[in-house]
Amino acid sequence: MIQLSLLRQLNPLADASYQRSVLASTDYPALPQFEAALVQYGLPTLRAAGVRILQVNVGKLCNQTCRHCHVDAGPDRRESMSWDTAEAVIRFLKDSAIPTLDITGGAPEMNPNFRWLVKEAWKLKRNVIDRCNLTILVAKGYEYLPAFLAEHQVEIIASLPCYSESNCDSQRGDGVFQRSIQALQLLNSLGYGLEGTNLRLSLVYNPLGPSLPPRQADLESKYRLELRERFGIEFTRLYAITNLPISRFLDDLLQNGHYEEYMSRLVQAFNPNTLDNLMCRTMISVDWLGNLFDCDFNQMLGLQIQTPKPATIFDVNFQQLLERNILTSRHCFGCTAGAGCPPAGPHHGSPRGAPPVPQGRRYSLPAPCTRHAGRWRSD
Ligand code: SF4
Repeated sequence: MIQLSLLRQLNPLADASYQRSVLASTDYPALPQFEAALVQYGLPTLRAAGVRILQVNVGKLCNQTCRHCHVDAGPDRRESMSWDTAEAVIRFLKDSAIPTLDITGGAPEMNPNFRWLVKEAWKLKRNVIDRCNLTILVAKGYEYLPAFLAEHQVEIIASLPCYSESNCDSQRGDGVFQRSIQALQLLNSLGYGLEGTNLRLSLVYNPLGPSLPPRQADLESKYRLELRERFGIEFTRLYAITNLPISRFLDDLLQNGHYEEYMSRLVQAFNPNTLDNLMCRTMISVDWLGNLFDCDFNQMLGLQIQTPKPATIFDVNFQQLLERNILTSRHCFGCTAGAGCPPAGPHHGSPRGAPPVPQGRRYSLPAPCTRHAGRWRSD
């Protein structure tokens, strides 16, 4: 279990440019670049298709230090969105017709402007999502949070990587599972996750190791059964997500010698049918300083939107956002593996199934699916 962030460990992967260089490395010549996969399928560069979600990462401070965190968040991080930047976010939301404000972190609730953001978006009649780690809801000093979220009908998307205590704690820290269960029961008592209420409570699963997640529908049934029978917990839906090779998970892959093997799995599971629904096509991601990105993953890699100069929430041109190309890299294979992600999918990855890895075809792209039959180029 990591106790310190990569930054505090002085790990080179804390530097976004170093992560980018690992992902772009030519040390793995049989591992294609993401852009090459698009070309081989005769598919165009990814482009925006509107903006339906404004996702705001208010900082890297968190009360947990999870093993796979792509933000490298933790109690030792100090990055936190200022009121000036939060105010610019709300101004932009007000001037646009974007229906959803999606607040993430770190533990976003630890930002002093969190409640203000929620209230202002609520006044503007926008949907609000809180990407919640659950334990913050039962942390000392945050007792007001569950009722506050319910009062403003905030949708909660919460990480719970397993219904087994040992698996969950090995990924998220000792005691996290029990506190998460306590938080879920509290949310249920307020109506969250129950039929007949409009308080949505979604859970997020991600694999413990270098594998792809199982089929989402099967896993959701299993979660529902286990959580209901053992703890009396209800929830709205489950997202089964793929870990993207970024930050701590990338470190984990490299440290354990699994990087090539894992990337190969993602490449083999490439599914062109996922491209229409990639969240980056209908989302804008804002960092704690107000810089704009196509998604939270690109944010962590420092791949800032160019429209044509680096865009920020202070001087953004909405029309240019709509016309932009999306910046991609090998990490994008994590979003296109298997079943892909829904437009409003969770920021830690995307729901998908996990097709088996074909034998003897490592690092080559799979044959195109029927929708793209005849478009495969094997150059
Ligand atoms: S990481 Fe995923 S969401 Fe982000 S740009 Fe790549 S494909 Fe799009």
